[in-house]
Amino acid sequence: MTDPEVVTEIPAVLKRLAKYVVRGFYGLEHALALDILIRNPCVKEEDMLELLKFDRKQLRAVLNTLKLDKFIKCRMRVETASDGKTTRHNFYFINYRLLVNVVKYKLDHMRRRIETDERDSTNRASFKCPNCCSTFTDLEANQLFDPMTGTFRCTFCQTEVEEDESAMPKKDARTLVARFNEQIKPLYDLLRETEDINLAYEILEPEPTEIPSLRQRSGSETCYQQLATLVHSHVFVASNVHNPLTISGHH
Ligand SMILES: [Zn+2]
Repeated sequence: MTDPEVVTEIPAVLKRLAKYVVRGFYGLEHALALDILIRNPCVKEEDMLELLKFDRKQLRAVLNTLKLDKFIKCRMRVETASDGKTTRHNFYFINYRLLVNVVKYKLDHMRRRIETDERDSTNRASFKCPNCCSTFTDLEANQLFDPMTGTFRCTFCQTEVEEDESAMPKKDARTLVARFNEQIKPLYDLLRETEDINLAYEILEPEPTEIPSLRQRSGSETCYQQLATLVHSHVFVASNVHNPLTISGHH
């Protein structure tokens, strides 16, 4: 076995993964912000502000969420102007190795939660007395069992109890793990493709990127601005319809 080759450019599959999960786990604003960092390795907060046309508070909220979830990292730099004045700037970038691990962790967490739900709802299977309406869980079944008649009887009024179907979304829950696996499959496929990628240090911790469109802009709208306008007019909302990850919602 030889070591996997060290990659010095972000492979397309990793970019696809990032695009896919940000759309699954978050809203479109997060997706647009991350798209900038997919195209430009390390971007100054002010540049993102200009590209996205969000207000600063909104952008900070979006970036903070992504940062807390470790989808992006932030680095602070001090810049010195010609007059000697220093200013501090935040730069954002994606560390793809971290991102892959976070996605794996999140999926694992979701799956475990669904499995727990499934177990719980199986235990919740309950009985109901048709006479006095008392309810009993599966765990109480042994107290209800009447060995004389071989039936389950209400401990209060001795009426034979019925299985309470309204109390158990048993069947739904049982297929939930299967449904989760099915919906998440494209993501697992992408993750599998990323398995042996060995990223070079300089692309895990990239240097700040100059964004040419911002430097030479002469009043014409950039592509991002047009996108941002679309977002604000909610034209893109429909693209969330096929979101495969919504079944267990946000964490
Ligand atoms: Zn009863």
